[in-house]
Amino acid sequence: MSILVMKFGGTSVGNAAAHRQAGAIIAGQVGAWDSVVVVVSAMRGVTDALIRGARTAAEGNGQMYRAIVAELRVDHYRTVDVLVAAGQERAGLLAQIDAYLDEFATFCRSVHVLGEVTPRAMDTISSLGERVNARILAAHLRQLGLQSVAVDATALIVTDRQFQKAAPLMERTRDRVAQVLGPSLQDGVIPVVTGFMGATEDGITTTLGRGGSDYSAAILGDALDASEVWIWTDVDGVMSADPRLAPEARVIPVLSSSEVGELAYFGAKVLHPQTIRPVVERGIPLWVKNTFNPTFPGTRIVRESESTPGTVKAVTTITGLSMVTVEGRGMIGVPGIAARTFQAVASCGASVLMISQASSEQSICFVIPGEVALPVTRALEEELALELARRDIDRVWSLDDVVIVTAVGTGMRGTPGVAARLFGALGDACINVIAIAQGSSECSISLVVAASDAVAAVRSVHDMVIANGAAGDATMPEVGLP
Ligand code: ADP
Ligand code: ASP
Ligand code: MG
Repeated sequence: MSILVMKFGGTSVGNAAAHRQAGAIIAGQVGAWDSVVVVVSAMRGVTDALIRGARTAAEGNGQMYRAIVAELRVDHYRTVDVLVAAGQERAGLLAQIDAYLDEFATFCRSVHVLGEVTPRAMDTISSLGERVNARILAAHLRQLGLQSVAVDATALIVTDRQFQKAAPLMERTRDRVAQVLGPSLQDGVIPVVTGFMGATEDGITTTLGRGGSDYSAAILGDALDASEVWIWTDVDGVMSADPRLAPEARVIPVLSSSEVGELAYFGAKVLHPQTIRPVVERGIPLWVKNTFNPTFPGTRIVRESESTPGTVKAVTTITGLSMVTVEGRGMIGVPGIAARTFQAVASCGASVLMISQASSEQSICFVIPGEVALPVTRALEEELALELARRDIDRVWSLDDVVIVTAVGTGMRGTPGVAARLFGALGDACINVIAIAQGSSECSISLVVAASDAVAAVRSVHDMVIANGAAGDATMPEVGLP
């Protein structure tokens, strides 16, 4: 049985025109497959608005969420008015939207009274946009004459209890998916499943992390043994750089799962970092395509072994970071400093994005999100108080406003001189490299530079890629070679 899973991102279903475009794409695939399953995000900006409403309510602002309800009502009503003809279907849908917005307002009111929003509450609140939008898209498909129902992923994706970043329990999910979606698929009904969310075994709503609808599609693709998974977004595929930073960025036709994994981890927001594994490792073809340019083939994500050569295929950045350094000559040969350092970091709940240690062991530096720099340096000063007093460690300090620039490409493995070429490109652009680290998979090299140099760094590394035609063209010579 051939099954196609298609996911539409926020912009792809961001207004009535986009919904129409998505509807046409879906209608175009019906008949080409035994079954089509759709996963949908909230309309663009809606998740941000819901989160903002809950946060401001928790901070004591009892007005903001009300304004957000009014705005969201206007946006959703406007979309429905265009898409769904006046009548019972439209009236029912508008009533459902009102009910969800009332639910949001009630949650925010409670959060306002309590003065805090727990991760668990935030998951329930932030996933309302997907619930609404799945209903709108399903209604639109029905208007097009297709059979379709909205399905909440809380009935399908069973997760652990890690709110805000839940992981799926695949065996349970597989059973649920077969149970809940099986009959609809048999009857030729197109389920429109809410992205981003799932539920614990006992039914409490969870989310898979920001941008998690990609992951939802991958989980369903895996659970359904899908023939293919297509991620529809607002760019032509995975590009050699964020097109907003490097206008010259080009689409990469084929990328390996580890390359995409590395890109996603290091900030290329185009795919949720966890998306790739379940689908690609099982050999299910995964495509990233443009809703607004649907005939363009897009990017195909393949297994490692099927990957094409090419040294540096893409460059990406993570912004808003700080680099913390623990330094002192007394650290040389003293065991346990690194372990204690990272224990102290973990105690602040900070995630470390990159680590680099001087070979002389005189310093350890690591990069963390900027907002945790102060608590982390304080925790380190406390943990290492004795060593600081003895002057074994000279100081613990943080350099704020830095970014990580990462060059990605499997072909770096075993290709000498890639780092030199990267440094060369940055040197030519007069950009100072503060630290460097190579990914353990050897398919990425990350450099820390000042935030003010970020765009120039991306462009200079990108020019190096583009100039050599390596991105997207497997037949071209190595990057940097004349
Ligand atoms: P969606 O709502 O469809 O999931 P996202 O906004 O999450 O869309 O991801 C698509 C966006 O990712 C693009 O519009 C683009 O600006 C950004 N992006 C960042 N890096 C890249 C890259 N290397 N290739 C393509 N898009 C990228
Ligand atoms: N709507 C969610 C978010 O904005 C999930 C997604 O778009 O993938 O994070
Ligand atoms: Mg996304």
